[in-house]
Amino acid sequence: MNKKEALKIYNEQNMKMNAYSLVLSTTFYDKSTVAPKKGSDYRNKMLSIMAGEAYSIATDSKFIEAVQTLSKYDLGEEKNRDVSLAKKSLESTLKFTKEEAMEFSMACMEGEDNWEKAKHGSDYSIFEPYLLRLIDLSKKRAVKRNEQIQPYDVYLDDYEEGMNIEKYDEFFKLVKSELLPLIQKVAAKSDEIDDSFLYKRYPAAKQEKFMKNCLNKFLRFDKGWSYMGVSEHPFTDGLSGNDVRITTAYNENNITSCLFSIIHEVGHSYYEHQVASKYEGTNIKHCISSGMHESQSRFLENYLGRRESFWVTLYPKLQKAFPANLKDVTLQQFIKAVNVSKPSLIRTDADELTYPIHILIRYEIEKGIFDGSISTENLDKIWNQKYKEYLGIDVDSDRNGILQDIHWSDASFGYFPTYALGSAVGAQLLNKMEKEIDVDALLAKGNFKAVTDYLKNNFQKYGALYDLNTLLVKVTGEPFNPTYYIDYLKNKYSELYNL
Ligand code: ZN
Repeated sequence: MNKKEALKIYNEQNMKMNAYSLVLSTTFYDKSTVAPKKGSDYRNKMLSIMAGEAYSIATDSKFIEAVQTLSKYDLGEEKNRDVSLAKKSLESTLKFTKEEAMEFSMACMEGEDNWEKAKHGSDYSIFEPYLLRLIDLSKKRAVKRNEQIQPYDVYLDDYEEGMNIEKYDEFFKLVKSELLPLIQKVAAKSDEIDDSFLYKRYPAAKQEKFMKNCLNKFLRFDKGWSYMGVSEHPFTDGLSGNDVRITTAYNENNITSCLFSIIHEVGHSYYEHQVASKYEGTNIKHCISSGMHESQSRFLENYLGRRESFWVTLYPKLQKAFPANLKDVTLQQFIKAVNVSKPSLIRTDADELTYPIHILIRYEIEKGIFDGSISTENLDKIWNQKYKEYLGIDVDSDRNGILQDIHWSDASFGYFPTYALGSAVGAQLLNKMEKEIDVDALLAKGNFKAVTDYLKNNFQKYGALYDLNTLLVKVTGEPFNPTYYIDYLKNKYSELYNL
């Protein structure tokens, strides 16, 4: 096969894979939002067949030959990267037969369905057999993919190219030693800031109206390219750059839950929307790492969404939507309240300071599962013990404990650490951004576009053209440096609590 033939086949097969992935993603969004639960058995069977077909296209002998041929040529920076990402993914796919791929896809779908059931009933025992099966399958799959490295490292690298246990251990060691003492000091003073008005009753219908008419408008989350539905666990599905769908969940006793989860998902959406359009349909668009993605979503949620300037034009509208709860609460009181730090049970609702500890707990459990130092029996108990050990709190139910997150239900082991990594990357980026534009002045004027334009031009437009460290050097002048994150949290919370 010559270079010209290889390119033709490579591009054709890629388009076919894109078509399958679009259909599978759309069905996934549908399944998580509007599809009736009773239809899940039939739906899962059909989707597993689709996954099998996608496998056949991805492992077509002509495509394999095309990838092998193209990887011998210098095709320019962009195409070289695209092909090398295709090669990496192909090598991992080829370790399994079509039947194994279908079996794994089915196990993930059944895992999700039964996690949702278990979460509704707050009963871990419903989900446990499915989780154990996914753990067992994932351990075997890791060994099959790469016997030379530790099984958990295989997955850490999947979600963040180049990351491994050694690097995460070093990062979390810093988080532990620098932040745990501060968390304890702050926890002792957490009652000093009144945030009780955030937990009054906020009817879901009124929340929805505010989110769609005010928040999303401020965020310029435009209906022309985006959509927002409701699901058990908020997520973003980037079907294409101009078809990005998010979900949210309304908690009637907590207004911040929905507010900040939407801002988070809109952060992901901007990334999907703002990668240069020339990369649409290529691996440079598809293979953006989770750490890079979380750096942008957590950036909007925290580094922008929790500052006063963000709320200058928006807060009066929130007050108007919920006068009984907020009319006597000033903007400054509201900002203090949404930044209160207090050990809590739910990761997605956690404040910035305790957030990385939620991730540390999940990281330690995952690491222990894969190296065998944690038994998979009674994982719910281990979860609860760690919450007590690190955050000093008792888990009151499985729903608020081990069942709170969707990630293990489809075997996304290795994803969690990228949330903390992404937060830390965001702080490094913020440091650079604040030197170049006046973020507060722009936000206070309601000019959210100027800020997302900055993110687009300095980070998002590149997609996965570079790995995280290379991109960070390009954007901030240095590789990943967690000091910015630690300093940001120390300064912010010392000031907030007068420490
Ligand atoms: Zn996210």
